[in-house]
Amino acid sequence: TEQTIQDELISSIRTIKDYPSEGILFRDITTLLGDARAFRRAVDALVQPWAGSKVDQVAGIEARGFILGGAVAHQVSSGFVPIRKKGKLPHETVRIAYSLEYGLDEMEMHKDAIRPGDRVIVVDDLIATGGTAEAACKLLRSMGANIEAAVFIVDLPDLGGRGKLEAMNVSVRTLVE
Ligand code: AMP
Repeated sequence: TEQTIQDELISSIRTIKDYPSEGILFRDITTLLGDARAFRRAVDALVQPWAGSKVDQVAGIEARGFILGGAVAHQVSSGFVPIRKKGKLPHETVRIAYSLEYGLDEMEMHKDAIRPGDRVIVVDDLIATGGTAEAACKLLRSMGANIEAAVFIVDLPDLGGRGKLEAMNVSVRTLVE
């Protein structure tokens, strides 16, 4: 039978109960990455709106956003910019604090990674509350990026992340809920 791409992607994602803490359903995309066909279909679907249009940089959020973002950057013939947890990048950085479920964290990128006006796509595996992606978008905009969209394989719609990004005028593309 013909499986829709959504069904195929959903069945390639593994769910781990109570990881990393009690009550969390962890959506593990390593099984999607390990499935050649699902991995290709996911990357192709993520970039589909940008077929034939120019993207300067893909910004991937550590760590699963690096894996997907590298593939996405190759597909749209752009550069790749890593957005990392603080203290990991060797050159001068710009930094932003953001709140997690418990407490604060900081992420950063290299100061010279983006040129003002660059068209950028932000990539991560999953959007939950949207706090991580919101911080990444703010950081990119502070350096003059023009954010084309933020793209994710998985949306957890009950947590409201999409609305948080749309409220700051970032368009959101997700593949499955
Ligand atoms: P948030 O900032 O709340 O949107 O959280 C998004 C970040 O946390 C992403 O980098 C995800 O990889 C990770 N994350 C949050 N919730 C989950 C979940 N249920 N399963 C897998 N990853 C998650």
